[in-house]
This record gives sequence, structure tokens and C-alpha cells, in this order.
Amino acid sequence: MDNASEVAERIMAGEVRAAARLMRDLDDGRPEAREVLKLLYPKSGRAHVIGITGSPGVGKSTLTDRLIQHLREAGKTVGVVAVDPTSPFSGGAILGDRIRMQRHALDEGVFIRSLATRGHFGGLSASARAVISVLDAMGKDYILVETVGVGQDEVEIAAAAYTTLVVTVPGLGDDIQALKAGLLEVADLLVVNKADKEGAERTYQDLLLMLDLRTAKTPDAWQPRVYQTSAKKNRGITELMGGILAHQEFLQRDGGQALIAARRQRLRQEFLDLLKEGVFARLVDQMTKNGRLEAIIQDLLERRTDPYSAAETVIAAALESATR
Ligand code: GDP
Repeated sequence: MDNASEVAERIMAGEVRAAARLMRDLDDGRPEAREVLKLLYPKSGRAHVIGITGSPGVGKSTLTDRLIQHLREAGKTVGVVAVDPTSPFSGGAILGDRIRMQRHALDEGVFIRSLATRGHFGGLSASARAVISVLDAMGKDYILVETVGVGQDEVEIAAAAYTTLVVTVPGLGDDIQALKAGLLEVADLLVVNKADKEGAERTYQDLLLMLDLRTAKTPDAWQPRVYQTSAKKNRGITELMGGILAHQEFLQRDGGQALIAARRQRLRQEFLDLLKEGVFARLVDQMTKNGRLEAIIQDLLERRTDPYSAAETVIAAALESATR
């Protein structure tokens, strides 16, 4: 790999090949790749990140494709991260492998990256965050992060966006249950896609009712909105885009108080995750190398100590050496 600052420069100039290569290197767990991320950090934090989540088949990719189209027509540049651990594609090696988005693959203003595996970066959220940072440093105006809203990891990724869309379709009883069970809290905008199908109005009314019951009526808080779209027939997209912009404006009002709060929350999580991952990995590595790990396991096996005390002892010793 070229020298880190050179790579960083090329990425900040928006060079697609340099960015694609860095993402591959991150996936492969190359330490130099992380050096580039360090250099990109001061240049990131400008993009508006939009999370799009919902069950498989509700039309997330089709909708994402429409949003890309809309944003491009408005002259905005777009990055897309499609997170799908169930996808047979690995590591996102295939640029724009989602067929429906394929037509944007040749557009210089669009960069699409799929994340199917955990990679070497320590979890899906960490990989997704790294990709988002790269797209952000490239100068993309909007970053769309598409996730299947089933795993905890995935809901977290979508919720870490500034504006989160939760997508459902008419007549999905299970989906409404899932919404009640937690997705509703992360939704800034709810989308009833496939509104060309029967029962859309009913689902729409159900969601409005649920929101009405749920939402605290504090005047300062954002009131989630519900939209009906047909991504397939390109209907309702302008209205949905209007909702996204309204939420973005909401975050930016009063000197961007809400946006700063969202950023703080995100950065805190990112930092703590890195700390957790790094400390744990190093500790285990060290204890494996010096035989301490196996010695403790043996002690546990012979009931000379218990797992709680053993963990406490190791943690105390590690913290002591860290503060010394
Ligand atoms: P994802 O798994 O959530 O990304 O869903 P896809 O975007 O792959 O869409 C799943 C299927 O639903 C595809 O066959 C789409 O053509 C179809 N689909 C997407 N949006 C609509 C819509 O608004 N109306 C109808 N009738 N079908 C749609």
C-alpha cells in the first residue's frame, strides 16, 4: 500500500479507486488501512447519514435506488452502504452488486459498497462505521445505510444514522409487532412501501395510531412522520424526500443542537466500541502468549478459583498496569 497520507489525499479528492482499495484493505484487517482512517477523521463529519431499515423484501434496495436518483437529480453526491449478512456476496468486493442499484455504478457521484461479512474490523457496526467515514471524507453529501432490521447489530447501525427510516409494507402483521418491539423508537420516518398494494391505507392509519399512543408530546422533540411510497412505481418519493429534508432541518435548527447531540452519541459509541474491542483483543492475545489464559482455565477446572474472581483479578491487574 502507498504511504498513508498519499492515500488519504486521494480519497479526500474523491478518488473512487483509492476509496475502494482502502475499504478492501480494511476488510482484510491491514493495519496501514487504519492509519489512513486516522488521517481522514478531521475531514469527516459533513455528510448527512440516512439509515434505511426493515425486513427482507419490503423494498429497501428499490427505495434506496429511488432516493439515489432523487438526490442525484438535485445535484447531490451519494454514498451507499448496504449491510446484509445474509447476502451470499462477501466483503462487498462487487461494486454495486445489488442489481437495482447497478445502473448507478457508472455514475461518478455515487459510491456503493456492500457489507456482507463481519470482516476483520471487529463486528459489522465497526466495519459499517469505517465505510461511512471513508465516504464522508470523500465528500459525499448524503450517505444511505441500508440494513435488514432483524439483528441487534443492524438496528444499531441504522439507529446510528442522523435520520432513520423504518420501512414496512401493507398487511405485514409480524412487522407491526416488530415495530412495537423496538424499531419504532429508532424511526424518525416510517415508510409504508408497496403502497400500490391493497391495505396500504390501513397500515398507514395503524402506524399513525401507534405513533400517537407512543410519542411523548414534548414540543421540542421530533414527531415521527409516516409516508406511503411505491418504490417500484416511483410514487411518494418526493414527499418522503421532503420528510428527510424536514428532519435534517430539524436537526440543524437552533445552531444544530440536536445534530450535535446525535453526533456526541454516535462518537461516544464508536469510541467505546473501539476501546472494548482493542482492550479485549490485546488482553486475550497477551494472556494466550504467556500461558496465563490456560493456567486460569486449569484453575477453574480444578475449582481452585471461580470465573468471577479470576476475571476480576485479571481486570484489576490490567487496569493497574494501564494507569501506572
Ligand atoms: P429489500 O429486500 O427490502 O431490499 O427489497 P427489494 O428492494 O429487493 O424488493 C423486494 C421485491 O419487492 C422486489 O421484487 C421489488 O421489485 C418489489 N418491490 C419493491 N418496491 C415495491 C413497491 O413499491 N411495490 C411493489 N408492488 N413491489 C415492490
